[in-house]
Parts: sequence; structure tokens; C-alpha cells
Amino acid sequence: MTFSNLNLINPILKAVAEEGYEHPTPIQEQSIPIVIQKRDLLGCAQTGTGKTAAFAIPILQLLHQNNASKNRRIKALIITPTRELAIQIGESFHAYGKYTTIKHTVIFGGVGQNSQTTALQNGVDVLIATPGRLLDLMQQGFIKLDAIEMFVLDEADRMLDMGFIHDIKKILKVLPEKRQSLFFSATMPSDIVKLSEKILHNPEYVTVTPPSTTVELINQKLYYVTKEDKLKLLLALLENTNIKSVLVFTRTKHGADKVVKVLIKNNIKSAAIHGNKGQNARQNALNDFKALKMRVLVATDIASRGIDVDNLEYVINFELPNIPETYVHRIGRTGRAGAKGTSISFCDAEEKKYLRDIEQLIKKKIDVERLPDISLHEPIEKGPVVVKKEIIVNAKHTKITVKSPENGENRPNKKRKFYHRAKK
Ligand code: AMP
Repeated sequence: MTFSNLNLINPILKAVAEEGYEHPTPIQEQSIPIVIQKRDLLGCAQTGTGKTAAFAIPILQLLHQNNASKNRRIKALIITPTRELAIQIGESFHAYGKYTTIKHTVIFGGVGQNSQTTALQNGVDVLIATPGRLLDLMQQGFIKLDAIEMFVLDEADRMLDMGFIHDIKKILKVLPEKRQSLFFSATMPSDIVKLSEKILHNPEYVTVTPPSTTVELINQKLYYVTKEDKLKLLLALLENTNIKSVLVFTRTKHGADKVVKVLIKNNIKSAAIHGNKGQNARQNALNDFKALKMRVLVATDIASRGIDVDNLEYVINFELPNIPETYVHRIGRTGRAGAKGTSISFCDAEEKKYLRDIEQLIKKKIDVERLPDISLHEPIEKGPVVVKKEIIVNAKHTKITVKSPENGENRPNKKRKFYHRAKK
């Protein structure tokens, strides 16, 4: 199967060839013909399967063939939960649509709205949006959705997890009844199925290979390690210079910040991306990571959705996820499109129950590695360690290193506490 078997127009075939795609992925092969026939679609697929092109390509084709550019109004709306995903979908529309006449723009919160409203006022055919900013700009009168012909709800399960259900309902209320709708979700629990029934009319169903089989390409390793030793183990593994870029997952934002702090103190370039970081900080970190200017990116699960890094070879699960599907999502960041990838998981005593669930889902035992000698990797956690003196204690020249008892990290905290007390 090639893209030319899918009845695609030349401007799109040319763009797809320039992207280096030779064959459509299974979700593309199944979905593109359905969307071109203007049918509704329920797609069960996760990021990494090529689902963005599965909806972007046929949308661009239908709009281009209908001469959409003669009357620039928003005719296709794509809603996605995170800013990173919105930006990536925008990049896909740019890549596949560069030889068409179709214009798109991307809007999301956390940044000023001026450049977004200017783009909207100049006129676009396709709008890619996160729900909050969309509603905000609708209320301000910058966006009208009465000309929508195509509507895509992307990552529906994540939308509900992130509490966007009310926003989605508000958006649905103003969409024209007569439209084509596409609905994508990585999982299909009953609340998602119910939501899809509200949106879709007589849809076609497409499911791509369950995630548990895609992970077979990835070399998966596991270290049993105590919670206290995880940072030491991470530092020890990063001694390996073959690891040029690695995505490290933690369960919490606080955990991500802690790992980054230690890595930086140990001269390893890294940054965290999670919900508490501003949009610019997140995007800069991601750009530096993609450009190999930064070796380690530490992410929480929600923030990591949609991180698309070509040729990422290593994923480290600093903490195992409590939801087994999340493990599959995480390690699916590496080993994309048949590339080789390695995932390394750290499992402490409390996480053994999560490991059991993961191994059940992926239907295999993860190879356990012997812990390397981590005794030399005492993480510098609290500011630069000041080596005060080296004392030679006996004739055999045994050295005892005395660390500075008071370090820079602790002092401001003490001051802050004192300040609060004084205020009371
Ligand atoms: P997605 O699931 O949409 O996030 O896509 C995951 C990655 O697959 C992106 O980096 C795309 O550029 C890439 N991709 C999409 N379709 C194809 C294809 N047919 N052949 C090769 N790579 C693709």
C-alpha cells in the first residue's frame, strides 16, 4: 500500500513524499478513505500511530477540492487537550498542506492572545485549539463556528482526564448540526463511548494495533532499586555517553523538579516539563531537547502527551506509572517507526504491584538488569558541595572528605520561615 493508492491529490502526495513517508500507517490506511467519503469516524489510536496525518491529510484534501480558500472562514475545527499537541498538529497541517491553498492557525492558553487574534482576523480555514482558549476567544467575539463542516476531537480520553468535559459540551452546542465529525481516543472506557455517541452520527470504527504489541520493538530493561538510590542510579547510567538524549518520566511535578535539580547540580543539562511550567518554558525545553542541546528532558505523563521527538533512543521510567497503559504510552516515545529504542525502568519495593500490572498488560516479563556500582554517585542535592579540607589520617593516605555542614540551599528556607513567623 502506498499513499497514491489512497486517491490523494498531487499537492498532498508531493508533501507527504517530502516528509519521507513511504507507506501509510494502519490508522492512515483505514481512516483516510472514510474521511474522504465524508463519513464520521471513531478512531481508537494513540499518539505515535500516525493518527494526526490520518485526519489532517483528508481534511486538507476535502477543503482544497472545495476551493475553501475563496471564502476564508473556519471550516474545520480540531480540539486537542494540550498546547504541545496543538502545536504538533499545526506543524502537521503545515507540512502536509504546504502545496494546498488551505490556511490554518493554532491557538492555546498560557501565552498572549494578540498574535492568535491577528491570525484569526486574517482568515483561516482550519483552526487547531485547546478548549479553554477557544472558548475565551469565542466569548470575545474573535471566533465564529457557524461555518464548521468538519470537527475533530483529539485525545478524547485525555480531555476527560484533564476535566475538559464542560468546555467540550459548550463547544458542541455552537457547532452546526450538519457536519462531519471525527473522534480519536487512545482508550475507550464507557464515558468516552457515551461522549462519542453524542458527537458522531453513524460512524465507521477504526482501531489500530493494541499498544501492547507495538512495544515489542523496544528493548525493555528493569532495575530493582530502593527509592533512595534512584538518583544515584540515574547518575550512574548517565555516565554512559552513548545515551545522548533521554526522556525521563516521573509520576509527579514535584518529582520531576527534584530530578532536574539534581541533574543540573551534577552538570547534566536538563529541564522539566509539566503543568506548572509556562508555555514558553515548556516549548523552549522541548526545542532544546529536540535540537540535542539538552541531554535530559524530565516529564510527567500529562505534559508528555504529544511529545514527538524523532529518533529518541532512551526512555527512563524513574518512577513506574500506576496505570499500566501509561507505561506503554511512555516507552512508545522511543522506537518509533521501527527505530531501535530502549526503555529503562526503576522499580522500588512499593512499585512492585505496578510492575505486575504492566507485565500482565504487555504479556511479558521485563529483563532485570544487575544494579551497577552506584556507590560513587552520591547525588549533589543541596547546592555546590564545598570540600573544606582533606585530612590525611594515617600513613596509608586514607582520605576523609569533610563536606560543608551549611550549604546555600538551606539558608533561604530558614530565612523564609523566620519571616513568616515574624509576620504573624
Ligand atoms: P502521530 O501519531 O500523529 O503523533 O505521529 C507520530 C509520528 O509518525 C510523527 O513523527 C509523524 O511525522 C510520523 N508519521 C506519520 N505518518 C507516517 C508515515 N506514513 N510514515 C512514517 N512516519 C509517519
